[in-house]
Amino acid sequence: MAEGMAQADAAALKRKIRELARERDAVIISHYYCVPDVHDVADFVGDSLGLSQEAQRSPQKVVVFCGVHFMAETASILCPDKTVLLANLDAGCPMADMITPEALAKRKEELPGVPVLTYVNSSAAVKALSDICCTSANVTAVMRSLPGERILMTPDRNLALRTQALVPDKEILLWPGFCPTHHRVNLAEVKALKEEHPDALVLAHPECQPKILAEADVIGSTSGIIKACLESDRKEFVILTEEGVTYPLKKQRPDKVFLGPATPMICPNMKKNSLADVLKALETLTPVIKVPEEIRAPALRAVERMMAVPRDWRTLAGIPGRLGACCIIHNCIATALLVVDGLLLACHIHPRTLPQNPLCNRLLGWHHGQSRLAPRVPAPCPCVSRPAPL
Ligand code: SF4
Repeated sequence: MAEGMAQADAAALKRKIRELARERDAVIISHYYCVPDVHDVADFVGDSLGLSQEAQRSPQKVVVFCGVHFMAETASILCPDKTVLLANLDAGCPMADMITPEALAKRKEELPGVPVLTYVNSSAAVKALSDICCTSANVTAVMRSLPGERILMTPDRNLALRTQALVPDKEILLWPGFCPTHHRVNLAEVKALKEEHPDALVLAHPECQPKILAEADVIGSTSGIIKACLESDRKEFVILTEEGVTYPLKKQRPDKVFLGPATPMICPNMKKNSLADVLKALETLTPVIKVPEEIRAPALRAVERMMAVPRDWRTLAGIPGRLGACCIIHNCIATALLVVDGLLLACHIHPRTLPQNPLCNRLLGWHHGQSRLAPRVPAPCPCVSRPAPL
């Protein structure tokens, strides 16, 4: 509940916001990392790019973005005809601020011909200077899709290091940026938590440092972490991403236990978005975030190139043609099915289900090498009931 606000007052404020949103023809979208009160009034709660895509699909003309500045910019890039409001203009992202267009332009001059892959957690101006964007969920597929062996990846060095481990045939040049909320996770605290809860599933965001990721069973995007928790039959979960994700998790699974490090993982900028800010944005239709067209057009190109990259195992394994594999959980290779001509040939989490086809062996071996979950995922395979189409 909003600090210092009685429950009845908060409920009345939420009703007022919803009424005003209808009057203003506005859609309210909130990142998972915002405070629970803001989740409660949002039409959509999700990850940054997914939210901008929801804004694009929504029929409303006004978008109230509860998140940080670069996210509202992405909404503006995808929805140039809508009025995009950022609930709190002071909500910036320290990681996005660790790269400027000037610094990127200079680095590009030093690296002629080297493609630039930029995480969506970046300003529109930086996206505009990049060849292609990525999210934490699709980064390996995007990286593999790029020509050449050397790639400059910006701005998150931790995500780049993780990608380097998954795509060893590329030489990834790092940018020295990081997310303070994820970068500062304390290894001793994580180890202590694991010792106290040995049966807990440990899930980490790839913005964490490699030494933290090495402790995780599942590495994935925010949405991926939520999905993996909801699909797991474990009772306890150690969540190594911003603590906001535990609100939807606890609402959906009150019978489970969601734990975090002793030093909470909080993004102070995301928490700046309050109910009062949402109300004010709807009342005043400010502050507007509008990306100028000369930046929007090249930034959109980088985002659209990313969206055009197929996110499937054929790309990841470099296997063309009819061999397909499906059901990945947020790129961490937790589970995978191999399907050829519609027939399920293998599922790597079941040791008895061995591949019947030499092509499958190649793919299976590849992701077996990456997977840390294989011995721990219980049968039956949760993917079997819903294989993705080839
Ligand atoms: S959690 Fe990290 S990357 Fe996300 S907005 Fe906060 S500082 Fe930026």
